[in-house]
Amino acid sequence: MPDVQLTKGLHEACGVFGIYGHPHAGELVYYGLHALQHRGQESAGIVAVDQGKFTTHKGMGLVTDVFRNGDAFDLSGESAVGHVMYANGSPTITEVQPLVFKYRAGTIALAHNGALVNAAQIRRSLELQGSIFQTNSDIEVIAHLIARSPHDDLVSALRHALGVIEGSYALLVLAENKLIACLDPQGLRPLALGKVGGSYCFASETCAFDLIEAEYIRHVEPGEMVVVGQDQLRSLKIGEPSPAFCSFEYIYFARPDSNLTSNTSVHQIRRKLGKQLAAESPVEADLVLGVPDSSLSAAIGYAEALSIPFEMGLVKNRYVGRTFIQGKQESRTRDVKLKLSVVRKVVEGKTVVMVDDSLIRGTTSRRIVRLLRDAGVKAVHVRISSPPVAHPCFYGIDISSHDELIVTHKSVAEIQSYIGADSLEFLTIDGLVRAIRGTNDNHGLCLACFNGKYPTTIDFQTEEAQNE
Ligand code: SF4
Repeated sequence: MPDVQLTKGLHEACGVFGIYGHPHAGELVYYGLHALQHRGQESAGIVAVDQGKFTTHKGMGLVTDVFRNGDAFDLSGESAVGHVMYANGSPTITEVQPLVFKYRAGTIALAHNGALVNAAQIRRSLELQGSIFQTNSDIEVIAHLIARSPHDDLVSALRHALGVIEGSYALLVLAENKLIACLDPQGLRPLALGKVGGSYCFASETCAFDLIEAEYIRHVEPGEMVVVGQDQLRSLKIGEPSPAFCSFEYIYFARPDSNLTSNTSVHQIRRKLGKQLAAESPVEADLVLGVPDSSLSAAIGYAEALSIPFEMGLVKNRYVGRTFIQGKQESRTRDVKLKLSVVRKVVEGKTVVMVDDSLIRGTTSRRIVRLLRDAGVKAVHVRISSPPVAHPCFYGIDISSHDELIVTHKSVAEIQSYIGADSLEFLTIDGLVRAIRGTNDNHGLCLACFNGKYPTTIDFQTEEAQNE
């Protein structure tokens, strides 16, 4: 599972889970959010609806912190949605999702994973027309558009709103008598449909279904709206599909036990990334290490392909508190030591390959290489199981502005020297596509942070200004 807080400078923005028509809806959403915790640790929340009455429990922190008194079990109602968030900046409790809105046609709760690329423009335009916003959240923009729609029925109003927005959204909308799941036409974020005890449910990742013993049915399609209500399930088209699924979900964000397509686990794909990396950039070494946890699958693949032993040379301390994780800059080196230890007996005197899944700023790789050198390795060859990240992401992943990306101002040789490695190689973009797709056809994948080809229009001035 990716450790977004410590090891990267990459942050996923949110996980969603929703269920319709189950006697233990709140409890199941609670467990679902547990499984999605890796997608956001900033806040957690659940909204349940019981005969038109909406009840919310939410707060800052991990799911276990927010629901420490079994509060989810007390949320009455047969339908519920939940959300875990990673946020840029400092979110306030008013921004913790799901957010509940009342408008002329009723009450709705919204939970969103993604980022709208035209939210700022829509917000400005609505403000000029007199709208008042209480949060910086994109879903408040969506709620305004729903409320201002000329349609009274929710499905039509939502379709109207989604016709105006652009960007990434895996969106759940809970109303008194229905649960609606929507995915943007690019299908940038994952959203899966399942069924438990006759009740339909939706989750950002299939690992949430495994925990509640739900049956996986299929993924929501790009540009699809799925409406679940008493009259069962309906699928509607909300936009012309133009698939561009986030390739970083495979590389780093999703849990290895999730399936992002119908039958291939993220672990299997990462293993292929490691094999492809070995084919492109082999090296002679005594052993292969993966940076835990998200790089282990790729390291296994790399080691297998070259018949080099895979070893547990780096160990993660899972019990480091968030205070340390968010510590001051000067304590970051100690933070890495707190978080990662080297098994000295394994690496001492050895030539090692350190496989990592991505390299964004280089600071973490530099610290880990130093830890390995301090433990007495003979040589460290760093292999990255993704291409160089050269462009920011505007679709909900906190890959920062150009300036913070090391490849925009250093050559690979300079990065190798900066991190103190004996050699450094990245997976190629073609290799990434081949490992994910099994062919050279990159159709349906977003590769924008590698090649700068964004699958939607981007207002660079506004977006970069917001990222700063
Ligand atoms: S730009 Fe990169 S991180 Fe963002 S959606 Fe595309 S592939 Fe994913």
